Amino acid sequence: MSSTATAPTEPPAESSGPVDTGALRALLDGRWASVRDDVRAQLGGRRLHPDPDWSTEEHRAYTTGLARELADTGRATLGFTGEHGGEDDIGGSVTSIEMLAYADLSLMVKAGVQWGLFGGAVQALGTDVHHHRYLRDIMSFALPGCFAMTETGHGSNVGAVETTASYDVAAGEFVVHSPTPSARKDYIGNAARDGRMAVVFAQLITPAGRHGVHALLVPIRDVDGRPCPGVTISDCGRKAGLNGVDNGRLVFDSVRVPRDALLNRYGDVAEDGSYSSPIENQNRRFFTMLGTLVRGRVSVAGSAASATQSALAVAVRYGLRRRQFEAPGRDGEVVVLDYLVHQRKLLPALATSYALHFAQEELVVRLHETQTGGSSSDGAETAQRELEGLAAGMKAVTTWHATHTIQVCREACGGAGYLTENLLPQLKADTDVFTTFEGDNTVLLQLVAKGLLTEYRDYVGDLNALEMVRFVTEQVVATIAERTSARGIAQRFRDPAPDDPAWHRSLLADREEHLLATLARRLRRAGADGADAFAVFNAAQDHLLHAARAHVDRWVLDGFDAGLARCADDGVRALLEQVRALYALSLVEADRGWFQEHDRLTASQSKAVIATVNTLCGQLRPHAGALVDGFGIPEPWLDAAILRET
Ligand SMILES: Cc1cc2nc3c(=O)[nH]c(=O)nc-3n(C[C@H](O)[C@H](O)[C@H](O)COP(=O)(O)OP(=O)(O)OC[C@H]3O[C@@H](n4cnc5c(N)ncnc54)[C@H](O)[C@@H]3O)c2cc1C
Repeated sequence: MSSTATAPTEPPAESSGPVDTGALRALLDGRWASVRDDVRAQLGGRRLHPDPDWSTEEHRAYTTGLARELADTGRATLGFTGEHGGEDDIGGSVTSIEMLAYADLSLMVKAGVQWGLFGGAVQALGTDVHHHRYLRDIMSFALPGCFAMTETGHGSNVGAVETTASYDVAAGEFVVHSPTPSARKDYIGNAARDGRMAVVFAQLITPAGRHGVHALLVPIRDVDGRPCPGVTISDCGRKAGLNGVDNGRLVFDSVRVPRDALLNRYGDVAEDGSYSSPIENQNRRFFTMLGTLVRGRVSVAGSAASATQSALAVAVRYGLRRRQFEAPGRDGEVVVLDYLVHQRKLLPALATSYALHFAQEELVVRLHETQTGGSSSDGAETAQRELEGLAAGMKAVTTWHATHTIQVCREACGGAGYLTENLLPQLKADTDVFTTFEGDNTVLLQLVAKGLLTEYRDYVGDLNALEMVRFVTEQVVATIAERTSARGIAQRFRDPAPDDPAWHRSLLADREEHLLATLARRLRRAGADGADAFAVFNAAQDHLLHAARAHVDRWVLDGFDAGLARCADDGVRALLEQVRALYALSLVEADRGWFQEHDRLTASQSKAVIATVNTLCGQLRPHAGALVDGFGIPEPWLDAAILRET
């Protein structure tokens, strides 16, 4: 058949009639709908946004007050274990954080630091003694704390932090010390104002030698708020956003803490100074420890998604009421959302937000099941590894989507979008750093690709680069060669099924497989004897990131399908099928250079993809308002001046 004349994609038929936004919202609310409703009931009746004229101190005090209020509602107990007063509801705790992100991002980050990072580390890395001693006070906010991992010298490469924790056998104490200026703990949330204790990540040293990075509980302020002896605290000062959070710096001058300050689930030091660990390999141990903290990344992904939905809600609603320029045959000026290019700004982004929302639900369910499964079998280890890869990928893709889309929403509201009263500047400023904290996105996508190539991330960590090249290429080439013979590809892609969602998926799945297979081959070719192993990897870094991105895109589409499969309302499903098509084809459109270069689309098919995206935008335009209403964001949290009746 002729591949050039066929339009590859006919959009699904336009859904008819108004959609049931209640049914849409129920679907989006998902498994933790009751948590969402609780947060709406408790906080949704008022506008929580900070006053832009507040000083840093006023803003911090306000955020701390809200965090205390939250603690008083008992909401912070969700993610902690039942035996210490928690509710064992990991998924509920992440969902609760995501809800806060609609309301106020400083509050979301403050809560994330206190209960997710600080409390989460005590729970995941500590043992009974720490749980009994601290968890209740952490939950109630009686003990505000910090998660002090990053140093001025090392952010992404946290295995190289310089802070030391040396065991003094005679005293039975650890000495926590910052040996160089670059060992200063930096950007630490809760450090500048409120924190009384910190989980400090440091190189553990005993008389037998160094054992890699471990975490210890170190008091940093006394009950009156004065720095503890040997601890120097300074303030990171005014930031681009999130100024309700008190980020600070910590320097330790031979600070002594008792032996049981070590969070010793994965490594312990006996009284006599001997070291023991259930995980012998240092690298593996450290990655296991980091892996237990995956919840933070999942929360940041979900929170970025919520903030993006808020921005889209403002921009879409404004686009439905804002008029500019008359057109022949039309009454009055044209509503800006009737312009194709305005639809193109907002509707593919809205479709992506839907896709990410459903995928996030899948991710939260996986997190919940993995962390409440309680098994240490091989299956659980594999599930944990997959979870870490997906969390890293989703965090990167969702936070980049937020940064891009919130800017687009700002522009879609014209000059009004630049005014603080219209919420978008704050959303932009507050979410900007989401691409960096909880793991820099570029570094995270490299982790995703490495995990995909090897499926044994910690094992590979022990190989030198050349051994890794050989290892991964053997595995990946063998697996993928079975699936992607050249003939198979040609047949599949020259014979598109126009309105078949399976065709959209096959495009994305094939891109993922091809990028991975060719990456592996590339590494193998360059991994010959005498090759410069660093240069081999460095030269393929762009390819590596593309492969990781393709993997996440396909996984997100599968998440959308899982959401569609749960949909019981015909009208909602018909609408969401269009949204799904717009999401998938927007991805193909954005990467159409690759699809054409690799003979997956002809030039005319590629043009037809563009035309289909246009058609879908037009078909979804009447439903744009319903689609943002479906997010169920309480109206006071969307209280932008441009949306008030005049
Ligand atoms: C507001 C805020 C709050 C924070 N809160 C906390 C907290 O509470 N606790 C805490 O411990 N930390 C916190 N952080 C620190 C944060 O986690 C780090 O900033 C982050 O991990 C990145 O580290 P870095 O800033 O050193 O950047 P770097 O790691 O130096 O990265 C700089 C650039 O180099 C690139 N790069 C790095 N490595 C590679 C590579 N291998 N290949 C290609 N490119 C690379 C990155 O992509 C990036 O563009 C916070 C930061 C901020 C800004």
